[in-house]
Amino acid sequence: MYTNDSRVLVTGGAGFLGSHLCDRLIEAGHDVLCVDNFYTGRKANVEQLLGNARFELMRHDVTFPLYVEVDRIFNLACPASPVHYQADPVQTTKTSVHGAINMLGLAKRVRARILQASTSEVYGDPEIHPQVEGYWGRVNPVGIRSCYDEGKRCAETLFFDYWRQHQLEIKVMRIFNTYGPRMHPNDGRVVSNFIVQALRGEPITIYGEGTQTRSFCYVDDLVEGMLRLMDSEGGFTGPVNIGNPREFTMLQLAETVLRLVGGKSKLVFEPLPSDDPKQRQPDISLAKEKLDWEPKVALEDGLKETIAYFRKRLEE
Ligand code: NAD
Ligand code: UDP
Repeated sequence: MYTNDSRVLVTGGAGFLGSHLCDRLIEAGHDVLCVDNFYTGRKANVEQLLGNARFELMRHDVTFPLYVEVDRIFNLACPASPVHYQADPVQTTKTSVHGAINMLGLAKRVRARILQASTSEVYGDPEIHPQVEGYWGRVNPVGIRSCYDEGKRCAETLFFDYWRQHQLEIKVMRIFNTYGPRMHPNDGRVVSNFIVQALRGEPITIYGEGTQTRSFCYVDDLVEGMLRLMDSEGGFTGPVNIGNPREFTMLQLAETVLRLVGGKSKLVFEPLPSDDPKQRQPDISLAKEKLDWEPKVALEDGLKETIAYFRKRLEE
């Protein structure tokens, strides 16, 4: 167990998930070093922490080495939205792979425990449903999602090799679709797209027929799972799925968002991007068993918080 005044590094800490994690770590009394190159993150996401003596913000790209002294590392740096990670795919792979090598090298030098924000994308377009951690996945190595999917898979490989070869304390977390306040309005992911479109009275863009499924986890639940995983003892490494098992089609999501926002947006159907997974739902038995964790926030409640955030943000 790390003491509540540990020095904690959060890479990608000015992003959506990273900023919520920084809030929780500061609340718990840790010293937090937030490292970000602001590719998709924003200083505004952590501005509430900037005056806090325990919080430090550093502009740095994790594809370059970093020399700091810390006790724990949460490695979240990487654009997560398909629109953003496909905008500069070479940089996406570099961020996942070189970023992992640099952060693992740092962890090895200072003997820090290190957690990797991996993803359900390692399962690709899965043939088994729901996805369990033992499933090896079905990933296209040369498609438009590969920079992210294969980058994250290679990062997992590196984590497990540092664990086997250098006895590093690693934690690998496979995050399923997560949403909440501080997503970027132009993020491109489905929840933010639908909410922003509904609030602006613009058409809701459904890709394909909208029958593909995802399972959406509210950010507070996700961060709780992340903290529990970092604190877990007994040599538990994961990989472990963290996500909400309630599954929805994109049509159901659009209808729910429209009902909660009100307004007159129509649904429009656009082509399905290539390699878009048809279904996704986490099996969270392992997280329940090892971390005593399960999500608590229902989709409608989480959407209401997120809608309130975007309503305010769009007025700024
Ligand atoms: P995000 O885009 O809001 O945050 C990523 C952060 O990393 C941003 O602040 C960005 O500026 C920063 N970053 C990107 N490249 C960097 C680099 N080379 N050096 C330093 N900083 C860099 O996305 P998010 O949703 O907060 O995702 C955080 C992590 O969780 C990512 O690793 C992502 O792959 C993983 N994840 C998220 C989800 C989700 O649904 N939100 C799902 C699966 C996995
Ligand atoms: N999607 C959609 N309309 C949008 C954005 C996304 O129908 O405006 C679909 C997308 O094709 C995918 C699902 O919503 O099937 C989730 O997409 P997202 O980009 O949020 O994340 P993914 O799980 O695909 O990485």
